[in-house]
Amino acid sequence: MDIHFPMFEKPFGEGFTHPGTFNGQWVIGGKPDYLESISPIDGSLIGRVSLTTEIEYEETIHKAREAFLAWRKIPAPKRGEIVRQMGLRFRDYKESLGKLITLEMGKILPEGEGEVQELIDIADFAVGLSRQLYGMTTHSERPHHRLYEQWHPLGPVGIITAFNFPVAVFGWNAMIALVCGDTLIWKPSSKTPLSAVAVVRVMEEVLKENEMPEGVVNLVIGSGSTIGELMTRDPEIPLISATGSVRMGKYVAKTVAERLGRTILELGGNNGVILMEDTDMELALQAVLFGAVGTAGQRCTTIRRLMVHEAILENFTDRLVRAYKSIQVGDPFEKRTLMGPLIDADAVRQFEKAIAQIEKEGGKILTGGKVLKSGDYAKGFYVEPTLVMAHPDMSVIKQETFAPILYILPFKTLEEAIVLHNAVPQGLSSAMFTKNLLHAETFLGPEGSDCGIANINIGTSGAEIGGAFGGEKETGGGREAGSDAWKAYMRRQTCTINWGQDMPLAQGIQFGSGCTT
Ligand code: NAD
Repeated sequence: MDIHFPMFEKPFGEGFTHPGTFNGQWVIGGKPDYLESISPIDGSLIGRVSLTTEIEYEETIHKAREAFLAWRKIPAPKRGEIVRQMGLRFRDYKESLGKLITLEMGKILPEGEGEVQELIDIADFAVGLSRQLYGMTTHSERPHHRLYEQWHPLGPVGIITAFNFPVAVFGWNAMIALVCGDTLIWKPSSKTPLSAVAVVRVMEEVLKENEMPEGVVNLVIGSGSTIGELMTRDPEIPLISATGSVRMGKYVAKTVAERLGRTILELGGNNGVILMEDTDMELALQAVLFGAVGTAGQRCTTIRRLMVHEAILENFTDRLVRAYKSIQVGDPFEKRTLMGPLIDADAVRQFEKAIAQIEKEGGKILTGGKVLKSGDYAKGFYVEPTLVMAHPDMSVIKQETFAPILYILPFKTLEEAIVLHNAVPQGLSSAMFTKNLLHAETFLGPEGSDCGIANINIGTSGAEIGGAFGGEKETGGGREAGSDAWKAYMRRQTCTINWGQDMPLAQGIQFGSGCTT
């Protein structure tokens, strides 16, 4: 655990503590309760972060509100300049931030650093966006009238994030919301608090150097049922952007809707890939390996179901089994490791539960299926990457088990494959491998994939930040990151200006012509 994070005064380990509340100052009460950050690599303690109390939460939301009144007045391109500097500073810390993500979340180092790159990319995107927060104009039906739309800052935005992307998902929300003129209250997962503390410390440097008001960027640490609940019920937060499980999203949606607040929901996926008979096997193999095994199957976009045309079933399955058997599982800091640990003991239990259900429902485990407990694996949370020959009647294939389990489902016709593909409650990401234009277009057409993301000849994961990211059905319908996702972080205003001498009414209504004015 020899990780030097330049801005932390103490080394990680038993003696490391850090305040968990930031509202322009790092706040810590008299007798704080602490949250332990445990590395899934070997179960060791990385450090302790203080939990935000209710009083600290109230102070923080007050500061976020006050800061909003000032931040919204700063011209958007000037806000973009602050975000530009943040992007540069994230570059300076890319290596150490990437290592911290790997240490705390367990993804392999190239993925940890890739996540920081995503934060940098979205900062760059947001800088350009800060000069493009455009509204439309249209033609009024009335003479000498102008009709147009404009977009204003919304308010303090609550960002609730999941453990599996402890930094990037915050970035997708935060960089966009900041240029839009909103202030931020971030509640990260309790499983990855230190990655959040580190990112906020980088942002703090830039905000202080630019003498920005306290409360533009805020951090609160605590469980969903304490701090999460305070945020979702808080009328001072007009928008909650929540990333996590479907169960959490259903609760958050209901709670925020009760106060007629807005949500962006980024929830679970159960992503499928269809391999047609003309699949380029080499391409598909690479995509499936990264998509199903990468991040130990703990991506919302992980490939969980593989629909394989019966003409290539045997050949492709054999090659996939061979590839699975060669995957190096272990320490995510090791160069040759392709798959690190699951996040914690509960994740391992969910894996075991799914394996038991697979066996009960008649699935055939082709490789994997076991928890790794001995030797180097003894203290961490490691499982085998698992391939299952499944059938459509199995109920386990309809749920998202956040672990590296891939179900193979054979099919005969394109129609059958699409029905199989769409027969799950989630609708995040999807893909087809084919060289046949008609098949590809059918998959991308209105009767094809029902997901928010649909790809051809690439896998389901590893989205670029330029497009809007999100999914349909139980995935929640939210969109984040690129394209016009920014609109959800602003309030729309429709304006009509009369620059004439008369007062014509819309729809040609004549009113009060007999009155004296
Ligand atoms: P989780 O639902 O357990 O927790 C996510 C966040 O929600 C945490 O910060 C948690 O504290 C908070 N939370 C839980 N209950 C809450 C409540 N009642 N009120 C407010 N906040 C509450 O999810 P997880 O295990 O951290 O992450 C894995 C899940 O996230 C998977 O389902 C994965 O697919 C999903 N995910 C989705 C996306 C996406 O963009 N669609 C991205 C990443 C992860």
